[in-house]
Amino acid sequence: MRLDQFPPEMQSSIIPGIGGKYLYRCLGCGSLFGIEELLYTCPKCDSVLLIEDTEWERLKEVPGRIWRKIFDYRKMSNLPALGGIYLFHELIGSIIPLEDIIYLGEGHTPVIAANAAMKEWAGMGFCYKNDGQNPSASFKDRGMASAFSYLNYLINKRGVRDVLAICASTGDTSAAAALYASYLCGNVKSAVLLPAGKVTPQQLGQPLGSGARVIEIPGVFDDCMKVVEHLAENFSVALMNSKNAWRILGQESYSYEIAQGFDYEVGDLAVVAPIGNAGNITAIMAGFLKMYDLGIIDSLPSVIGVQSEHANPVYLYYLEAEESRRRFRPVTVRPSVAQAAMIGNPVSMPRVIKLVEQYRKLAGEDSARFVQVTEQEIMDSMLVANRNGHIACPQGGECLAGLRKAVAENLVDRNRTAVLDATAHALKFSGFQEKYFTDAFEPEFEIAPKKEMRNAPFSLSLPERVPNPASGPLGPEEFKKFVEYSASAIADILELKALG
Ligand SMILES: *Cc1c(COP(=O)(O)O)cnc(C)c1O
Ligand SMILES: [Zn+2]
Repeated sequence: MRLDQFPPEMQSSIIPGIGGKYLYRCLGCGSLFGIEELLYTCPKCDSVLLIEDTEWERLKEVPGRIWRKIFDYRKMSNLPALGGIYLFHELIGSIIPLEDIIYLGEGHTPVIAANAAMKEWAGMGFCYKNDGQNPSASFKDRGMASAFSYLNYLINKRGVRDVLAICASTGDTSAAAALYASYLCGNVKSAVLLPAGKVTPQQLGQPLGSGARVIEIPGVFDDCMKVVEHLAENFSVALMNSKNAWRILGQESYSYEIAQGFDYEVGDLAVVAPIGNAGNITAIMAGFLKMYDLGIIDSLPSVIGVQSEHANPVYLYYLEAEESRRRFRPVTVRPSVAQAAMIGNPVSMPRVIKLVEQYRKLAGEDSARFVQVTEQEIMDSMLVANRNGHIACPQGGECLAGLRKAVAENLVDRNRTAVLDATAHALKFSGFQEKYFTDAFEPEFEIAPKKEMRNAPFSLSLPERVPNPASGPLGPEEFKKFVEYSASAIADILELKALG
């Protein structure tokens, strides 16, 4: 819609202005640092950082119901800069001018209600939010749009040059980082560190296709992360992992979209997400807390974090009910089909601890829960979901398995509606589906395919007497014979009834 077509009282709010003062806040010692330089850890105490708008209170001069109106009207604007996560500009990047925003089609992903059969299977009503429908086919694009828009702002307005964007990845971070870097080509080059053999062929192809330098490292993600951290501490690179707090800001858009998509009535929702490096669950909680603080929502949804038994440090941490006795211990991961979340020492753990504390203080002990699921449950859930109209990846399957577990353990009120994060597109992980269908999982995965869930192509073979198009071009009569034979064989297989 054209600006002059909006209601007159809304027109001045559709295009966001520049405002606020953003600083890095250390979660360890509380110090504040300027954002002119990219910082990943506190120079004083080495803890992780979050970005804070120190002029946040100014946003409260606008009542919550007006914010809701602004965001809803803004959705009708066709300005590319507002087409993605920066619809919520004031909440995630109000210092970034619109002309510096990179929009590659991220955000505003569809929310798909489960059908009746799936609801019964899950034990309660739910929907999937298909974040696999982002441009690089995972939710990581949200955070990258934010981190690269800020980088672009530094390049355009502060003369930053020759940037090398670098990240370690379980597959999707590198795909997203390489995609956004390629859009800024000329100013930004990218390099990605991947655990050798621990990303899918599709995920390996993505950064290669975007022109990134791809470096495979022996070990698992946690090992790659240590190497990339060492690089960021000693060389001039822009770290694009979720240690980079700009990523978290962008990923908060997931919560804002859920709020908007449910007409800002989120008190009866249970938001379910898989946990790997814990950036996503951090952003989800931070996003809802911000909206609550501004009165845009008047109650908080409950949040459920899910981990595989093979990579479960966050789950183990919260298993201890007594807060003072909780100790964080990294775990050594075992092979997991939820490979994108196969992380034993999540970088954002201090952020999770802080946000869970805030969240529970406002919404009650039950409001943030953690469950663990088996590899078998993850695969079975993914396959069942995808047989019912969804496009869930294994991590999306993990969410559904986690929801079922939460229902079974009475950790979630069944009258709520759950919103499950389908964090990536199923196609990225088709190899795991194939392993299931062909019973080819290595024993470490501990997955035994259920017979009724398996599927395989049936290949039609032609007897000698039937002309075969694979052996050369057929004449019209021969072709007719081939078609008639094939159709009749297929009709037999499918038990089709003849017409009339
Ligand atoms: C990164 C990723 C996760 C884990 O998210 P964290 O923010 O690292 O906890 C889960 N699923 C997919 C598909 C991912 O790419
Ligand atoms: Zn500090």
